[in-house]
This record gives sequence, structure tokens and C-alpha cells, in this order.
Amino acid sequence: MTNKLIYFIGNWKMFGDFGSIKIINKLHNFYYKFSKAHKKNKIILCVPYTLINFFQKKYKSKLISLGAQNCHHHQTNGPFTGSISASMIRKIGAKYIILGHSENRSSGDSIQKIKTKIKSALDEKLIIIFCIGETSGEKRKKRTFSVLRRQIKGSIDKKYNLNKIIFAYEPVWSIGTGNVPPKKELIKIFNFIKKEIKKTFERKTSPTVIYGGSVNGKNISLFASISEIDGFLIGGASQSSKKFIDIIKNYYK
Ligand code: PEP
Repeated sequence: MTNKLIYFIGNWKMFGDFGSIKIINKLHNFYYKFSKAHKKNKIILCVPYTLINFFQKKYKSKLISLGAQNCHHHQTNGPFTGSISASMIRKIGAKYIILGHSENRSSGDSIQKIKTKIKSALDEKLIIIFCIGETSGEKRKKRTFSVLRRQIKGSIDKKYNLNKIIFAYEPVWSIGTGNVPPKKELIKIFNFIKKEIKKTFERKTSPTVIYGGSVNGKNISLFASISEIDGFLIGGASQSSKKFIDIIKNYYK
């Protein structure tokens, strides 16, 4: 069991409605007691745009923070039909934002576009959950390290405040598949990412790097045994309070 701050971040994707407030309430009731005994952790729920303001008003406690899942690269207002800016997201009460998720990369978010989105969101004082990760094809061709390097260098500027960026290693082949990398591979990759960020941005302290991809209440013990992992981005399992609670409980077993 670790003594450092561990993030448990839910990515609800395109799921949830007003009734989903019960998921936050159940999570809150569990976490209210749990966090007194296990102080060093943080729960963040990145929910659809349509729910951020509703949850912000209904859920008064600040114990669980809210985040968005993407934004337009233009920071404020503009003629971008169907889009939401980082400024709008901040104003409706989100504190965090996922950027660079593979599901958005595959529908048009280029490395350069993600860089602009990160800048916009940082300017709005949002904390970024920046997703990076290789596809199965890139893994097969042994390109994992070069892909990660390109994604980090291409979307992060030296001038950005790295203390406001949580890096999320999400192998694309692991998302929603039930497949997770073996321990040895994870240690190697996390060490690489941390070293790469420190070297590239001349940073002395270690960055926060979390893992995402098919995390559940069973496999969490594998991840809990890897000290390089600073937390989790949880997709499918975060849409159920029971599954999310199992992950948190089992992490500390
Ligand atoms: C995700 O989409 O960020 C994710 C980690 O999904 P899942 O946990 O369902 O693999």
C-alpha cells in the first residue's frame, strides 16, 4: 500500500442522464467515510457536457470533483456549430478535462489540435488529463516508445504549466477490451514516460502519470503493486458505483 496521492478518475464517455446523480451520491456516501482512513487519494468524474452543470448544482459536496471529456480548440466563443469551448466548460463548474483520448484522436484530434486544446484549457485554469498511448498495430511494430515520445513532444509546450497536467497512459488496444499490459511492460513504459517528460521539459520532480485501459476490481491489485503508477482513468467500470467502489477498495487491500 502506498502513501502517495492516487487519482481515481472516471470517464463516463457518452453515458449518463439526470438519474445518474445516484451514482455520485452512492460514491460520495462510500468515499465520505473511506477518505478519512485513506486520505491520499482523489476521485474525479469526467461526465458528458449535459451533466456537468446539473451535477454541480445538485451535488453540493466538493469531495468528488467534476471534469469534462473534450473541448473545441478555440478557447472562448466562435462560429463552431455543435462545439463547446474550454471557457464554457470552466464556467459551468468543471475543474478537470480529458484531452487526447484515443476515441477523439481517431475522429480527428491531431497532435497539433490537441496542443491547442491543452493551451486553451490551461488558460481557463482547467487541470488536464492528457491521454497518450499506442494502438495494437503500433505495438506490434514495436513503436510504443516512439509513439509516446511523439505524442508528448508534439502536444506539450515547454511553457505549459506541467503541474496542471496529469498524463494518462492508455494503450488503445486495452480500452474496453479486458486486455491489460503485463507488469514488467507497465514498469518499463511508466519509467520511460516519466523520464521522457523530465528530460524534454527539464523538470526535476516526477510528473503524475496514471494508467487507463480495462481497469476493474479484479485486476487493480496488479496495478496497485506498481509504484510508478499514480492513479487510474477508468471508463466502463466508472459508470457503476459498485464497480468503481470495488476498484478503490481493492487498490488498498
Ligand atoms: C477509457 O476510455 O478512458 C477507458 C479507460 O476505458 P475502459 O476502462 O472501459 O477500458
